[in-house]
Amino acid sequence: MTEAPALTVLAGPTAVGKGTVVAALKERHPDLRVSVSATTRPPRPGEIDGAHYHFVSDEEFDSMVESGDMLEWALVHGRNKYGTPRRPVDRAIAQGHPVLLEIDLDGARQVRRTRPDARFVFLAPPSWEELERRLVSRGTEDGAEQRRRLETARVEMRASAEFDHIVVNDSVERAVSELAALMGLE
Ligand code: 5GP
Repeated sequence: MTEAPALTVLAGPTAVGKGTVVAALKERHPDLRVSVSATTRPPRPGEIDGAHYHFVSDEEFDSMVESGDMLEWALVHGRNKYGTPRRPVDRAIAQGHPVLLEIDLDGARQVRRTRPDARFVFLAPPSWEELERRLVSRGTEDGAEQRRRLETARVEMRASAEFDHIVVNDSVERAVSELAALMGLE
Protein backbone atom coordinates (compact mmCIF):
# COMPACT_ATOMS: atom_id res chain seq x y z
CA MET A 1 0.00 0.00 0.00
CA THR A 2 1.23 3.50 -0.84
CA GLU A 3 1.56 6.23 1.80
CA ALA A 4 -1.48 6.90 4.04
CA PRO A 5 -3.70 9.56 2.44
CA ALA A 6 -4.63 12.66 4.48
CA LEU A 7 -8.08 12.65 2.90
CA THR A 8 -10.24 9.65 2.00
CA VAL A 9 -13.54 9.84 0.17
CA LEU A 10 -16.05 7.05 0.75
CA ALA A 11 -19.01 6.80 -1.61
CA GLY A 12 -21.51 4.08 -2.38
CA PRO A 13 -25.20 3.58 -3.04
CA THR A 14 -28.02 4.17 -0.62
CA ALA A 15 -28.45 1.58 2.14
CA VAL A 16 -25.12 -0.10 1.42
CA GLY A 17 -24.21 0.44 5.07
CA LYS A 18 -21.88 3.45 4.89
CA GLY A 19 -23.17 4.77 8.21
CA THR A 20 -22.57 1.47 10.03
CA VAL A 21 -19.12 0.99 8.53
CA VAL A 22 -18.04 4.55 9.30
CA ALA A 23 -19.35 4.36 12.89
CA ALA A 24 -17.41 1.13 13.49
CA LEU A 25 -14.29 2.61 11.90
CA LYS A 26 -14.50 5.68 14.16
CA GLU A 27 -14.88 3.49 17.21
CA ARG A 28 -11.78 1.52 16.28
CA HIS A 29 -9.72 4.60 15.33
CA PRO A 30 -10.56 7.58 17.55
CA ASP A 31 -7.92 9.66 15.78
CA LEU A 32 -10.02 9.60 12.62
CA ARG A 33 -12.08 12.69 11.84
CA VAL A 34 -15.27 12.19 9.85
CA SER A 35 -16.58 15.34 8.20
CA VAL A 36 -20.03 16.48 9.37
CA SER A 37 -21.93 17.55 6.25
CA ALA A 38 -24.43 20.35 5.94
CA THR A 39 -27.80 19.37 4.49
CA THR A 40 -31.18 20.87 3.68
CA ARG A 41 -32.84 17.50 4.45
CA PRO A 42 -34.93 17.50 7.63
CA PRO A 43 -33.54 15.43 10.52
CA ARG A 44 -34.73 11.83 10.92
CA PRO A 45 -35.83 10.78 14.39
CA GLY A 46 -32.76 10.50 16.62
CA GLU A 47 -30.48 12.58 14.39
CA ILE A 48 -28.61 15.33 16.22
CA ASP A 49 -27.80 18.71 14.68
CA GLY A 50 -24.04 19.17 14.55
CA ALA A 51 -23.35 15.46 15.08
CA HIS A 52 -25.03 13.60 12.22
CA TYR A 53 -25.40 16.66 10.00
CA HIS A 54 -25.59 20.41 10.24
CA PHE A 55 -29.26 20.85 9.37
CA VAL A 56 -29.59 24.15 7.53
CA SER A 57 -32.18 26.02 5.47
CA ASP A 58 -31.92 26.32 1.72
CA GLU A 59 -30.87 29.96 2.13
CA GLU A 60 -28.14 29.12 4.64
CA PHE A 61 -26.85 26.37 2.37
CA ASP A 62 -26.74 28.62 -0.69
CA SER A 63 -24.91 31.32 1.20
CA MET A 64 -22.26 28.79 2.35
CA VAL A 65 -21.78 27.77 -1.29
CA GLU A 66 -21.57 31.37 -2.47
CA SER A 67 -18.95 32.27 0.15
CA GLY A 68 -16.79 29.36 -1.00
CA ASP A 69 -17.23 27.54 2.33
CA MET A 70 -18.06 24.20 0.68
CA LEU A 71 -15.34 21.81 -0.41
CA GLU A 72 -18.01 20.15 -2.57
CA TRP A 73 -21.78 19.96 -2.66
CA ALA A 74 -24.52 18.16 -4.55
CA LEU A 75 -28.24 17.82 -4.96
CA VAL A 76 -28.73 14.23 -3.84
CA HIS A 77 -31.58 12.00 -5.06
CA GLY A 78 -32.86 15.09 -6.88
CA ARG A 79 -34.26 16.44 -3.62
CA ASN A 80 -31.96 17.83 -0.96
CA LYS A 81 -28.61 19.57 -0.98
CA TYR A 82 -25.65 18.10 0.91
CA GLY A 83 -22.19 19.61 1.21
CA THR A 84 -18.86 19.36 3.00
CA PRO A 85 -17.84 22.46 4.97
CA ARG A 86 -14.28 23.15 3.93
CA ARG A 87 -12.71 24.63 7.06
CA PRO A 88 -13.09 21.73 9.53
CA VAL A 89 -11.57 19.37 6.94
CA ASP A 90 -8.55 21.60 6.34
CA ARG A 91 -8.12 22.16 10.08
CA ALA A 92 -8.19 18.44 10.91
CA ILE A 93 -5.69 17.66 8.13
CA ALA A 94 -3.40 20.46 9.36
CA GLN A 95 -3.56 18.89 12.84
CA GLY A 96 -2.43 15.59 11.37
CA HIS A 97 -5.71 13.67 11.62
CA PRO A 98 -6.77 11.29 8.87
CA VAL A 99 -10.05 12.67 7.46
CA LEU A 100 -12.93 10.78 5.89
CA LEU A 101 -15.71 12.24 3.73
CA GLU A 102 -18.84 10.12 3.25
CA ILE A 103 -20.43 11.73 0.21
CA ASP A 104 -22.29 10.93 -3.01
CA LEU A 105 -20.88 10.28 -6.48
CA ASP A 106 -21.27 13.87 -7.65
CA GLY A 107 -19.40 15.15 -4.62
CA ALA A 108 -16.67 12.52 -5.03
CA ARG A 109 -16.11 13.65 -8.61
CA GLN A 110 -15.73 17.25 -7.47
CA VAL A 111 -13.19 16.29 -4.83
CA ARG A 112 -11.32 14.23 -7.43
CA ARG A 113 -10.84 17.45 -9.41
CA THR A 114 -9.85 19.70 -6.51
CA ARG A 115 -8.01 17.21 -4.25
CA PRO A 116 -6.43 14.64 -6.57
CA ASP A 117 -4.21 13.49 -3.69
CA ALA A 118 -7.25 12.06 -1.87
CA ARG A 119 -8.00 8.31 -1.91
CA PHE A 120 -11.35 7.31 -3.41
CA VAL A 121 -13.12 4.25 -2.06
CA PHE A 122 -16.45 2.82 -3.23
CA LEU A 123 -18.48 0.74 -0.77
CA ALA A 124 -20.45 -1.83 -2.75
CA PRO A 125 -23.24 -4.24 -1.70
CA PRO A 126 -22.69 -7.98 -2.13
CA SER A 127 -25.44 -7.89 -4.81
CA TRP A 128 -28.16 -5.65 -6.20
CA GLU A 129 -30.86 -7.82 -4.57
CA GLU A 130 -29.19 -7.41 -1.19
CA LEU A 131 -29.11 -3.63 -1.63
CA GLU A 132 -32.87 -3.56 -2.35
CA ARG A 133 -33.50 -5.78 0.67
CA ARG A 134 -31.45 -3.49 2.97
CA LEU A 135 -33.23 -0.37 1.75
CA VAL A 136 -36.71 -1.82 2.20
CA SER A 137 -35.96 -3.43 5.56
CA ARG A 138 -34.52 -0.29 7.15
CA GLY A 139 -37.94 1.28 6.56
CA THR A 140 -36.85 4.94 6.85
CA GLU A 141 -38.17 5.89 3.40
CA ASP A 142 -41.61 5.53 1.81
CA GLY A 143 -42.10 3.66 -1.49
CA ALA A 144 -41.61 6.69 -3.75
CA GLU A 145 -38.44 7.73 -1.94
CA GLN A 146 -37.14 4.13 -2.09
CA ARG A 147 -37.67 4.07 -5.85
CA ARG A 148 -35.89 7.40 -6.22
CA ARG A 149 -32.96 6.14 -4.14
CA LEU A 150 -32.71 2.90 -6.13
CA GLU A 151 -32.63 4.92 -9.34
CA THR A 152 -29.65 6.94 -7.99
CA ALA A 153 -28.07 3.70 -6.74
CA ARG A 154 -28.14 2.21 -10.25
CA VAL A 155 -26.19 5.22 -11.58
CA GLU A 156 -23.74 5.08 -8.67
CA MET A 157 -23.10 1.34 -9.10
CA ARG A 158 -22.19 1.90 -12.74
CA ALA A 159 -19.63 4.53 -11.67
CA SER A 160 -17.83 2.28 -9.18
CA ALA A 161 -14.96 1.73 -11.65
CA GLU A 162 -14.00 5.42 -11.32
CA PHE A 163 -12.83 4.77 -7.77
CA ASP A 164 -9.33 3.75 -6.66
CA HIS A 165 -10.70 0.84 -4.59
CA ILE A 166 -13.95 -1.08 -4.19
CA VAL A 167 -14.78 -2.53 -0.78
CA VAL A 168 -17.66 -5.02 -0.68
CA ASN A 169 -19.78 -4.69 2.45
CA ASP A 170 -20.63 -8.36 2.94
CA SER A 171 -19.46 -8.25 6.55
CA VAL A 172 -19.10 -4.98 8.45
CA GLU A 173 -16.07 -6.26 10.34
CA ARG A 174 -14.25 -7.15 7.13
CA ALA A 175 -15.26 -3.95 5.31
CA VAL A 176 -14.01 -1.85 8.24
CA SER A 177 -10.65 -3.65 8.27
CA GLU A 178 -10.26 -3.21 4.54
CA LEU A 179 -11.12 0.48 4.68
CA ALA A 180 -8.79 1.03 7.63
CA ALA A 181 -5.95 -0.61 5.72
CA LEU A 182 -6.64 1.60 2.67
CA MET A 183 -6.51 4.66 4.92
CA GLY A 184 -3.26 3.51 6.48
CA LEU A 185 -4.90 3.25 9.92
CA GLU A 186 -3.66 -0.28 10.61
P1 5GP B 1 -29.02 10.50 3.83
O1 5GP B 1 -30.14 11.41 3.45
O2 5GP B 1 -29.43 9.06 3.75
O3 5GP B 1 -28.38 10.86 5.16
O4 5GP B 1 -27.85 10.69 2.76
C1 5GP B 1 -28.13 10.59 1.41
C2 5GP B 1 -26.85 10.65 0.60
O5 5GP B 1 -26.22 11.91 0.75
C3 5GP B 1 -25.81 9.61 0.97
O6 5GP B 1 -25.58 8.80 -0.18
C4 5GP B 1 -24.58 10.41 1.31
O7 5GP B 1 -23.42 9.82 0.77
C5 5GP B 1 -24.83 11.74 0.65
N1 5GP B 1 -24.14 12.81 1.36
C6 5GP B 1 -24.08 13.01 2.69
N2 5GP B 1 -23.34 14.08 2.99
C7 5GP B 1 -22.89 14.57 1.81
C8 5GP B 1 -22.04 15.68 1.45
O8 5GP B 1 -21.54 16.43 2.26
N3 5GP B 1 -21.83 15.86 0.12
C9 5GP B 1 -22.35 15.06 -0.83
N4 5GP B 1 -22.06 15.33 -2.11
N5 5GP B 1 -23.14 14.01 -0.55
C10 5GP B 1 -23.41 13.77 0.76
